Amino acid sequence: MLCFATNNQHKIDEVRAYLGPDFPLSGLEEIGCKEELPEEQPTLEGNSFQKAEYVYKNFGISCFADDTGLEVDELRGAPGVHSARYAGAQRNAEDNMRLLLKNLAGSNNRKARFRTVITLITPKFTKQFEGVVKGQIIHEHIGKGGFGYDPIFLPDGYSKTLAEMNMEEKNAISHRALAVNKLVEFLKESHSLFITE
Ligand code: IMP
Repeated sequence: MLCFATNNQHKIDEVRAYLGPDFPLSGLEEIGCKEELPEEQPTLEGNSFQKAEYVYKNFGISCFADDTGLEVDELRGAPGVHSARYAGAQRNAEDNMRLLLKNLAGSNNRKARFRTVITLITPKFTKQFEGVVKGQIIHEHIGKGGFGYDPIFLPDGYSKTLAEMNMEEKNAISHRALAVNKLVEFLKESHSLFITE
């Protein structure tokens, strides 16, 4: 049994589709975890570990958890772990983007990256997987797709923002897809380590 420590059904479905029927995957609801997971660390590595460890220790189930942030060079890695609530507890994407553009006003260094860290904890090992997409923060919103900071993020080597890409295009380059692909590859390679747990 393997749990993805999230309540986001979209994320669970996505990983399930990659893993195939050999890996039964549960979300938090299915294992009876109703509480909010602790996420109090200053790094993506720390937060994804904390969430996975909480489930592993309290429910005794092999587990993985993800954490993602937008890291902007000029802002010394901010908003980073605070990406979801950068402009406040309302967790509003428009507010977050407005604040980011304000904090970058007048700056020529617009380099940024989305980074996802996944931590997998099993009785035999703990392992982390990282996915990164590099790009630039542009000066205005372009595009209506995606979510979060997508309309102001122009990936390196592309002439459209993440919000102008369809799901297939975004998944081909996205930080989350890259991290998930590494996890899935690892799980498939080490299948025998899981079926006995
Ligand atoms: P989470 O760890 O997946 O919940 O992501 C934390 C926050 O990072 C989200 O609330 C968004 O603000 C931002 N974020 C994560 N992934 C993306 C993405 O693919 N595009 C734009 N923003 C994202």
